[in-house]
Amino acid sequence: MIIQRLWHQSRWRLTMIFAVIFIAMSAILGNYVNNACQRASADYTSLISDIMLAQQSIPQPRLPTTARNHQANIQHIENIGHFFSVSKKHLDDIKNNIEHHRFLNANVISLSNHFYELHNRFSRLNLVVQAAPSRPELIQTLQHSAIELNNKQEWLYSELLYELQGLSQQQRLAMQRLSISMSVLLVLVFSAAITLCMAVLHLRHQRNLMQKLMLTDELTGLYNRRHLVNVALAALTQAQRDKTPLSLLVLDIDYFKSINDSYGHPTGDEVLRQISGRLGNLSRPSDIFARIGGEEFCLLMPNTYTYDALQVADRFRLEIENMQFEGIATGVRLTISIGVTTGTGDEHTFEQLYSFADKALYAAKTNGRNRVESMLPPISHPASNLDEKNYFHQLMSQSSDS
Ligand code: GH3
Ligand code: MG
Ligand code: MG
Repeated sequence: MIIQRLWHQSRWRLTMIFAVIFIAMSAILGNYVNNACQRASADYTSLISDIMLAQQSIPQPRLPTTARNHQANIQHIENIGHFFSVSKKHLDDIKNNIEHHRFLNANVISLSNHFYELHNRFSRLNLVVQAAPSRPELIQTLQHSAIELNNKQEWLYSELLYELQGLSQQQRLAMQRLSISMSVLLVLVFSAAITLCMAVLHLRHQRNLMQKLMLTDELTGLYNRRHLVNVALAALTQAQRDKTPLSLLVLDIDYFKSINDSYGHPTGDEVLRQISGRLGNLSRPSDIFARIGGEEFCLLMPNTYTYDALQVADRFRLEIENMQFEGIATGVRLTISIGVTTGTGDEHTFEQLYSFADKALYAAKTNGRNRVESMLPPISHPASNLDEKNYFHQLMSQSSDS
């Protein structure tokens, strides 16, 4: 159900396809490595020692003595019988040992046919050995068979040792290849992990950059209007909840157009940057200073009465009035005009506050510029706690922390 729902979202579909391919490749690779490891680590020492033991401990079929009396014949038959039974035991041991190994190559497997053949012949000849004491004419046949089987046995064991030697060489090679492929695999996994980390870091960096670009103004590095509005909404809600005042300053540089006209647009940009830096440094960390238009700025001051906001505004105004600009023709002086308003726990929107501050700014401009003016929004429920007079009185009074 969940898988079906995710499958219909293209982002998840790609992830699922990638996951399936990744799991399938891991399974195939894991299976291959596991197989190669088992093949390379297969232990043939017990088989080799069984063969060498057989080569050393099988008695050689001896020729009969020249004195061919009955007793000598019996002794000879016993010798041949002993040779057959010891040979057969070793043969069976080696055959069993071969059957326990999964990774022996086709050449060794084909030799196992000779084991079956020898095993059968030893079994048949054991019957002949039992009959031989009463039928001396069989001794000759037994003698020939013993010599023939001994030769065959020796050939078979030396072939087997030769094949096993080849196998151990192949094992060594496989081990080398395995370690090389494991190293390559490790390097691949390591580089994939590094690439992934770098991609994640790059994406995070891009996201931070995008967030920063979304929230800040490119020219001055100050917050932009979008961020100011968002913060103002949260600050207004908080002010309403805590019944605290919230002041807003709107600043506009006086006759800024003349700077552009006299010194050029790049100089105008530099002036904007320097004014932003200076006023940004002057504002408190709890306040939000933003560039909201060409040469227009806002300072949002949570938990601040009008009286304190007016003081801040005047400090700003004086700072710019006395400011000397670096790297710009000496004698360039500028002033700013500021409109101030304050909202309270009453239900004011940011747009309302902004329009009152803007009206105050307009008043500062028309009253001669380089001024601070304030305009307060009317109280919507004057009869609730305070009458309107008290309300304005409270707004204009100095706050305890100023
Ligand atoms: P006032 O005292 O009435 O505010 O006069 P003013 O010249 O400052 O106002 P006006 O609105 O006539 O001109 C504002 C100027 O600000 C016009 C525009 O070229 C300039 N301006 C706006 N944004 C930028 C900017 O990013 N860089 C530069 N260099 N100038 C800008
Ligand atoms: Mg202006
Ligand atoms: Mg303006």
